[in-house]
Amino acid sequence: MIVILKENPNPRQLDSLMTWLKSKGLEIHKSVGATHTLLGLIGDTSSVDMNLIKALDIVEDVTRISEPYKNANRKFHPRDTVIEVGNTKIGGGSLTLIAGPCSVESEEQICEVAQRVKESGATLLRGGAFKPRTSPYAFQGLKAEGIRLLKKARELTGLPIVTEIMDADLLPMFDDVDIIQVGARNMQNFELLRRLGKIDKPILLKRGLSATYEELLMSAEYIMAGGNERVILCERGIRTFETYTRNTLDIAAIPVLKTLSHLPVIVDPSHATGRSKLVEPLSYAAAAAGADGLIIEVHNDPEHALCDGPQSLTPEAFDRIAKNLQTMFGRNAVAEAQG
Ligand code: PEP
Ligand code: MN
Repeated sequence: MIVILKENPNPRQLDSLMTWLKSKGLEIHKSVGATHTLLGLIGDTSSVDMNLIKALDIVEDVTRISEPYKNANRKFHPRDTVIEVGNTKIGGGSLTLIAGPCSVESEEQICEVAQRVKESGATLLRGGAFKPRTSPYAFQGLKAEGIRLLKKARELTGLPIVTEIMDADLLPMFDDVDIIQVGARNMQNFELLRRLGKIDKPILLKRGLSATYEELLMSAEYIMAGGNERVILCERGIRTFETYTRNTLDIAAIPVLKTLSHLPVIVDPSHATGRSKLVEPLSYAAAAAGADGLIIEVHNDPEHALCDGPQSLTPEAFDRIAKNLQTMFGRNAVAEAQG
């Protein structure tokens, strides 16, 4: 249930309304907007008489919401959430570029890629240190050493770093990471999500391979319910009957998620397609559909990449896409940060 208050509500009346609602066992999520304040009531509202609340002087309107996610719901929080990391902003109409290799492989590799993508306009560096691989025999990432190298690349370029966590017990190792990624395979690792709800760091939450919009938003809700409201949603392709592409990019997810939620929505065209040639057209499609950003795999030597080479762009190809995005959409985060 959402209670929309009139402008400048009488503080004493508001206080007494909040006390009464809390006495009904409800948790209250207060969201202060430019003109109106909203109270999101979380818990069992079945015993609350809507008409009684509507009749109060300070109340403009009351609506019941049926979606099971509250914190992530746009009805609770009509304005876009904008997440600031370093000099960059994600959400609210920016087109943030996150780029870097699938996995951190060496100091030379991550530093070179970081410099190149920065020159092209990326404002965040990605790179996996812990890799969720289908085969236990495949390269699993450099782990702690990978995080150390990411920090070196950050020191060199100033780009904040994004890297994936697979085990909540490893959180201390991510203390100095700027954005923690939850990969598609862990989207419903509820214990991990709960733990991430208790930290003060943005979380990049990737959509599970066969997750519905509501399931993705409920996973965001797990993080937000713990108090961490800085969640970035990522559409990265879903499983369909098509096998030509690694996954199928669900373009509709962008406007739908942005309608249902106030959280930023970014798109990963690399994992969505598995083919470097398709990254360019799908990047433009995602931007046209309103994505707040893109996360793109870039490698200095894709042919010899230890992970996801076939979908990785060369720095030159990434540069072309970044320039075209700037021309076509003119809302690159770099331009925003500088302008
Ligand atoms: C990744 O970003 O490297 C990754 C493994 O992505 P996903 O979880 O979307 O497969
Ligand atoms: Mn990858």
